[in-house]
Amino acid sequence: MITELHCHTTASDGVLSPTDLVELAVRRKVEILAITDHDTTDAWEPASQAAEGRLELWPAIEINCSEPGPYEVHVLGYFVRPDHRALQEALAKLREARQGRIGRMVDNLNRLGIDLELADVQKLSQGPSLGRPHLARALVERGVVADLNEAFDRFLALGQPAYEPRYSLRPREAIQVITESGGLPVLAHPGLIGTDEFLEGYVEAGLRGLEVYYPQHEGDQVARYRELARRYRLLATGGSDYHGPGRTELGAVRLPEEALQALREASGR
Ligand code: AMP
Ligand code: FE
Ligand code: FE
Ligand code: ZN
Repeated sequence: MITELHCHTTASDGVLSPTDLVELAVRRKVEILAITDHDTTDAWEPASQAAEGRLELWPAIEINCSEPGPYEVHVLGYFVRPDHRALQEALAKLREARQGRIGRMVDNLNRLGIDLELADVQKLSQGPSLGRPHLARALVERGVVADLNEAFDRFLALGQPAYEPRYSLRPREAIQVITESGGLPVLAHPGLIGTDEFLEGYVEAGLRGLEVYYPQHEGDQVARYRELARRYRLLATGGSDYHGPGRTELGAVRLPEEALQALREASGR
């Protein structure tokens, strides 16, 4: 079965609208789709309507968190209730912090001699959740960098000169709000964090799954995270983290049938 459990739309930093993403998923014969926009569930309604029973849509979210170190830790939530009040309040606060942060990053770029305004970035965003990829696209548009990777590597990534931190949840807080809203919290792309030292603490805090199958998990990482999932009795999930044409294909990451079955059982569906 073809599934896609990690992807983004224009509601956050993806390139396709929720409707276009669903159409692409149908063309690619995706049977289960979970849209995991950063800090917003706005894609849920339009995507549900577009799906028209042609594929199974699971409500989902991705919350970008941080740990002192500093580390970036992303937490996915599957089967959250999009209308859950505490969830929506938490997400609204995070989205507001995103706006302020991108503004500060534009100021940093200006100090580095790059001529750019917040409005240039905002017009590249069609949804409520502004992110660094929008800023990266504005830098490409201005001809400052050739592509998004260069924008992150030279300016926007943690440790680079335009980087700014922002208010974010600690992973255990994200785990809590996802659980409260009826969802299953899953640690996203653990191989990109840079350490596995936090995993046990997250399990104690209620983590239910680990994103084992991920395009950027290389070498022995898939095997290692599959083993860690087994050791901590976590669900194994996977997805492409599709943001638009280019990096990865929608539906390209295969999830073993038994992993999918376990996920479905845990959801109570
Ligand atoms: P933010 O949510 O504003 O902190 O931005 C983080 C997002 O930027 C991640 O979730 C990815 O979608 C994206 N990202 C990170 N590194 C890169 C990169 N090298 N090229 C393109 N997008 C990236
Ligand atoms: Fe993203
Ligand atoms: Fe992520
Ligand atoms: Zn993602």
